[in-house]
Amino acid sequence: MTADPSLTFAHEPNATPVEANERAARLVDPQFGRVFTDHMAVIRYSDDKGWHDAKITARAPLTMDPASSVLHYAQEIFEGMKAYRLADGGTALFRPEANARRFQNSARRLAMPELPEALFLESIERLVKVDHDWIPTSDGGALYLRPFMFASEVFLGVKPSAEYLYIVLASSVGAYFKGGAPTVSIWVSQDYTRAAPGGTGEAKCGGNYATSLVAQAEASRNGCDQVVFLDAVERRYVEELGGMNVFFVFDDGSMATPPLTGTILPGITRDSILTIARSQGIAVREAPYAIDQWRADAASGRLVEAFACGTAAVVTPIGSVAEPQGRFTIGSGGPGQLTMRMRDALVAIQRGTAPDANGWLHRI
Ligand code: PMP
Repeated sequence: MTADPSLTFAHEPNATPVEANERAARLVDPQFGRVFTDHMAVIRYSDDKGWHDAKITARAPLTMDPASSVLHYAQEIFEGMKAYRLADGGTALFRPEANARRFQNSARRLAMPELPEALFLESIERLVKVDHDWIPTSDGGALYLRPFMFASEVFLGVKPSAEYLYIVLASSVGAYFKGGAPTVSIWVSQDYTRAAPGGTGEAKCGGNYATSLVAQAEASRNGCDQVVFLDAVERRYVEELGGMNVFFVFDDGSMATPPLTGTILPGITRDSILTIARSQGIAVREAPYAIDQWRADAASGRLVEAFACGTAAVVTPIGSVAEPQGRFTIGSGGPGQLTMRMRDALVAIQRGTAPDANGWLHRI
């Protein structure tokens, strides 16, 4: 079913929005994912009506039948992106078209209907406009947008749902790292993998995150901040972190990142860094990198930096890697030079302080 081109968004303003002084208080150093705006965007889908009932409405709890399909079989996908205040006073999203396409790819993999890109973008633009005052003015603050869609048909049979609910939430977030860029330590998961060939690794579905939690808990027990997964077939090649892609930096000034072979999420930050690095004349390979090689290269000094990247934390230096047999340090253990150069270059584009050579900013 294709979109009804005449689909228009109804506006139902929140009758009791948060008062301005209370909002200002909530915007002081908001914890990630806990401060929400006054509104949400909603679009319904059913096999017989297609996309319908689009609206911007007051953010409120949902009433759900306990037999709603998503609660049993996890047919759910989501996205994550940020709206930023720009240096010139404007507001922009960063590459939202890429999120729209990834959302469609995730939908296909989960046997869900594909939301047309124009509707995806419009839902987000309208929400950011109506809740614009919730974008923090603090350095590094942003409005995190969380579009998601789930199976809402009331039916216990295992089959693609005939009905879906698409919602966009907006959440005010502060700078991920206050005062500089602390390094993270990562745990190499031995017993758990994230995605197998033919599985859902490249889709952004809730199920992928549910299965990563036990590995993340193991990382915490071993004193690490994050978990890194190896490939499911040979348990040999580095894939990605629970919620971030990974890059390696070598002593010859080149960089490498695992290739998109279907088991890792094609991160938009990853793609942006590949583009920025190449535009700066840095040689970047998309090639498999084995954990044994990583350990050996860190010891020999061939590998000098490593970093993780994603929408939430932008670019995060990796300081050390822990395995059951021991821990190895990356470079000096602190933020590397090329890592910080990539981070600064990306943030400058996102904030409008550097030329947007690739047309990545989507002003609203
Ligand atoms: N990998 C995983 C598993 C993720 O959840 C994310 C966050 N979306 C990323 C990588 C980074 O993707 P992006 O740069 O698009 O945020």
